[in-house]
Amino acid sequence: MDVRLVEETPWRYRIERSGVMRVPGVVFAPHGLLPLDEGDRALEQVANVASLPGVVRASYAMPDIHWGYGFPIGGVAATEVAAGGVVSPGGVGFDISCGVRLLTSELDRDTVREVLPALMDRLDPLIPRGLGRGCLWRPAGRRQLADLLRGGARYLVDMGHGVPRDLDRCEDGGAVDVTDVTQVGDRALERGAGQVGSLGSANHFLEVQAVDRIYDEACARAFGLRTDQVCVMIHCGSRGLGHQICTDHVRRMEAVMHRRGISVPDRQLACAPVDSPEARDYLGAMAAAANYARANRHLLADAARAVFREHTGHGLDLLYDVSHNLAKLERQEVDGERRLLCVHRKGATRALPPGHPDLPADLAGAGQPVFVPGTMGTASYVLAGVPGNEAFDSSCHGAGRVWSRHRAQREIDIRHLRAELVAAGVSARPTSWRSATEEAPEAYKDVDAVVTASERNGLSRIVARLVPLGVLKG
Ligand code: 5GP
Ligand code: MN
Ligand code: MN
Repeated sequence: MDVRLVEETPWRYRIERSGVMRVPGVVFAPHGLLPLDEGDRALEQVANVASLPGVVRASYAMPDIHWGYGFPIGGVAATEVAAGGVVSPGGVGFDISCGVRLLTSELDRDTVREVLPALMDRLDPLIPRGLGRGCLWRPAGRRQLADLLRGGARYLVDMGHGVPRDLDRCEDGGAVDVTDVTQVGDRALERGAGQVGSLGSANHFLEVQAVDRIYDEACARAFGLRTDQVCVMIHCGSRGLGHQICTDHVRRMEAVMHRRGISVPDRQLACAPVDSPEARDYLGAMAAAANYARANRHLLADAARAVFREHTGHGLDLLYDVSHNLAKLERQEVDGERRLLCVHRKGATRALPPGHPDLPADLAGAGQPVFVPGTMGTASYVLAGVPGNEAFDSSCHGAGRVWSRHRAQREIDIRHLRAELVAAGVSARPTSWRSATEEAPEAYKDVDAVVTASERNGLSRIVARLVPLGVLKG
């Protein structure tokens, strides 16, 4: 599709409606963050998404936009259920409910410096990661796995893992209610059974960080953040279970699209009307994967908490857990009316404004915490949701790639990466240095520029900047 890009402000571009686009595209990025490399089709993907049946307002791209499956990563689109709006698994992605949680400690950077090597030595063998290498929790059988898929982190708290307060600080209270476990296929269950409580591959991590700078004192206070404080950030998703669910349901939607008279400019945008049986089945399975992802992060956090207690005498408190790959049915205002929308956020974080009823009471004044991991050698950020977010309460989710994994492996030398991390004072424990080169800081956009663009576009506000001290990579 032809992409006609118009600069609306120094911070945002519009993609003019043309061809089969039903709405325009909006890219919340200054010129320097646009994916303009030869052969990069991310902007074309924004335009393609604008053709989905029922899509409202615009097809949005966050400043960390880069190329993805069907939707770009950093893509947000909402479809109106009553107007034949569709759900597209490509708008959620393969790692269903991949997300981030941040835990805070009472420790200072200086106090932790001494115990950090011992802490990392203990976490290293304990946290399962890499492809297919163990897990923290094994279901006794299919029935117990189904209980976990229904109950998410709630089920684990009932079983004695973690504390009830963890659930208050988790999106959806730790579990989505409307699951349909029968729509999770045998292969997905098989793949998921041995991976509960595991990070997965290289973009996923458990990182010990220190708060480097506070930008918004009032929000930081509400979030329990202060300068020099030690935190733990965990990024992972639904492992093989989510991947298999996406594969299975894309295939099923592809098979019926023609019969339903739906055509899309890219096969990877397979979709079905939200009220069709295929969509209901996908959404039921997607919710089960979302619960799996929350349970996964919950167990990893609980393991990190135990190690912190053992080595420092202090535990870890969950600030918040939020996913960045999910479709949700939400009531949002469109043209002055509250309408039921299916909001796809793919590599984009939900960012609820202050006062939103879905926020825990003690965070309602500040807005929802939004986590933006940068890279293992640079910074990560905590942002907060703001009122008047045009993109259906969504914000960025990371720095966003500029190099493909393949290119990063080719350009980054292992010795260079190790030296870079030593110079940054980061103790890194990757499962493989070769695959860690895919995640080198050079492979990503400048995260400082990304969060600035989010703030300037009214998507969120910057609260705190964190820097890495130690990182376990998948
Ligand atoms: P994704 O969900 O798209 O795989 O990754 C989200 C973001 O995580 C990426 O855009 C990147 O900025 C960030 N990221 C990847 N690896 C690391 C890491 O080891 N540490 C931190 N802090 N961020 C990372
Ligand atoms: Mn993921
Ligand atoms: Mn992710």
